[in-house]
Amino acid sequence: MPNFKNLPSKLPAGKTSIFSVMSGLARKHKAIDLSQGFPNFETDNHLKDLVCKAMKDGYNQYPPMSGVWALRTRIAEKIAALYDICYDFETEILVTNGATQALYCAINAFVHPGDEVIVFKPAYDSYEPDIKLAGGKPVLVELKGKNFKIDWQEVEAKITSKTRMIIINTPHNPTGTVLSKNDMQQLEKLIRCTNIILLSDEVYEHLIFDDEVHESASKFPGLAERAIVCASFGKTFHNTGWKMGYCVAPEVLMKEIIKLHQATVFCVNHPMQRAFAEYLKKPEHYLQLGDFYQQKRDKFFDLMQGSGFKGTPSKGTYFQVMDYSKITDEPDVDFAKRLITEHGLAAIPVSVFHKNGKDHKQLRFCFAKTDETLEKAAEILHKL
Ligand code: PMP
Ligand code: GLN
Repeated sequence: MPNFKNLPSKLPAGKTSIFSVMSGLARKHKAIDLSQGFPNFETDNHLKDLVCKAMKDGYNQYPPMSGVWALRTRIAEKIAALYDICYDFETEILVTNGATQALYCAINAFVHPGDEVIVFKPAYDSYEPDIKLAGGKPVLVELKGKNFKIDWQEVEAKITSKTRMIIINTPHNPTGTVLSKNDMQQLEKLIRCTNIILLSDEVYEHLIFDDEVHESASKFPGLAERAIVCASFGKTFHNTGWKMGYCVAPEVLMKEIIKLHQATVFCVNHPMQRAFAEYLKKPEHYLQLGDFYQQKRDKFFDLMQGSGFKGTPSKGTYFQVMDYSKITDEPDVDFAKRLITEHGLAAIPVSVFHKNGKDHKQLRFCFAKTDETLEKAAEILHKL
């Protein structure tokens, strides 16, 4: 009998993600689920029809490794129209299994043992394990104040000869803040004379509210020349379970990312690629998203007025962080679990995104839900 008990783990501190834990608990207790980030309404029937049509038309075998030409062309057109930059669809665009795979390949293609990667905290939970799997060292920089701003002087102080990469995320999960033009210009200035690679996680690029503008790394020449920009069709088209996304990067970087893509998945779902290539012909399919989710944010935020929860309206993403310190001083993980088991409502405790799991007595609510669900949720939250 083999004895695997003492096998060295590649991720010894790795645990089941909070998103699986909370969604699992929510299912078990039949709770209203505002935890994991996914909509509880359907993706467009027209898009589903396009997938079915592609299957019936025979697009059921391996597509080209980097993605079908028609889809890569549409992605190049979309980015050119929005951010005024031309990516070569043959060499600079890769269709991936969601943004998650793009992030994994981007990090593992460039980070070597001993390399440092600057990560802003709170942060989405896949960056640090990806860095550690590559043998790299996450260098954590905390976002400052109640608006979660980046202190660029601190970033400058943390850059060393070992800094291989900086990861940014705008609009930001979990805080719902966005990076400004000034932020991007400061970053551009800071890394101008270095070989640092920028990994820009922009999965919520179209979920942006009020008069905010999405400042893609692609828009800034001094960033675009060193940036890998990741996007997610799941977030944009209400189909997170399809796990479709893409990344773009200058050819010299993309060449390396593609080697990892080839070795890990080789290619991704063919009929869905054909469907997205058709669907993307109409920009209104993604350009209306900001207004759509702004209404959801306003609805949820208004519903929460007069409750014990306090927060600043999210500027992007489909998440709203709220402070519950007036209700209880319980640790956020305990409070979130009790909310499910005793009150039938699931949310994400924000400490899991923070450095050393610091507890700020905040919960993250996903408002990508029907108005009816948001109303029921608010009713529960008002009673606390
Ligand atoms: N980055 C961030 C910030 C996210 O919130 C998510 C959530 N899903 C991802 C990446 C992964 O996207 P995908 O589902 O397309 O893999
Ligand atoms: N991005 C989603 C969230 O933040 C979760 C995706 C996942 O479960 N890995 O809720």
